[in-house]
Amino acid sequence: MPSLIGCHALVFTGDFDAAGIESSARRARQAGFDLIEYPLMDPFTFDAAAARKAVEAVGLKATASLGLPAEADVSSDDPDIVDAGRRLLDAALERTAEMGGLQMVGVLYGSMRKHMAPATSSGIANSVAAVATLADKADTLGIKLSLEVVNRYESNIINTGRQALRYLADMGRSQVSVHLDTYHMNIEESDLFQPILDTGEDLGYFHIGESHRGYLGTGSVDFASTFRALDRIDYDGPIVFESFSSAVVSATLSNTLGIWRNLWEDGDHLAAHANRYIRDQITAVRTIALH
Ligand code: MN
Repeated sequence: MPSLIGCHALVFTGDFDAAGIESSARRARQAGFDLIEYPLMDPFTFDAAAARKAVEAVGLKATASLGLPAEADVSSDDPDIVDAGRRLLDAALERTAEMGGLQMVGVLYGSMRKHMAPATSSGIANSVAAVATLADKADTLGIKLSLEVVNRYESNIINTGRQALRYLADMGRSQVSVHLDTYHMNIEESDLFQPILDTGEDLGYFHIGESHRGYLGTGSVDFASTFRALDRIDYDGPIVFESFSSAVVSATLSNTLGIWRNLWEDGDHLAAHANRYIRDQITAVRTIALH
């Protein structure tokens, strides 16, 4: 399991100007990570050249993540809103390529928010068509797409690993992967073991987050099962730590995710702890083969 261990940039800063991009890369490296995930809340203004320079300067790999806003939702029944979503995804893919990103991940298939109605079958068809087009473009750029499974309050389309596999089967693009996140799994899945086995070779990206999105090991996520399952499927994709606190705020993302409480103050301490925690778990589960 030679995974790249990474960290979401919002652990360090909510300001993604050139200075924030540079300092978050440097601090992710200082914490011991191999990779930084930049949120592309506004891909039209994100300084991808600064990101490429920042990660290269410290020897990190990069990925990009986003969730679509309501006004650019590719799962809408309004063709203008779907078109806005396609344009936003195209811009995000271009920024990902410009910064030398390995993957583009997150809620690429719909708007990331609390929906007040189920997705429609025509809206899901719009979503599948938009992501298929994006996948073909991503292929030509050598960028992998992974679709994040999130809880019911953040999507009405993909809430479980099995739903993600069905979505991918409908789309018919075998190069697109599933992105699981322990925070969301802890809300929606049967447990933290079986969905990882079920997703298997289709698992392409993995978020590690606690049940309250604070320090690892202080919530109710069953990380022992999580890492055993990742080892069982020989997962070798990125494992990226996500944590959010009102101590570090991005106006758009923090509000969308409902980050109202302050679970930590020191992002550097939190990050170094998470890096050790994840690597210790991986080291431990590898010894199971010796038992
Ligand atoms: Mn996540």
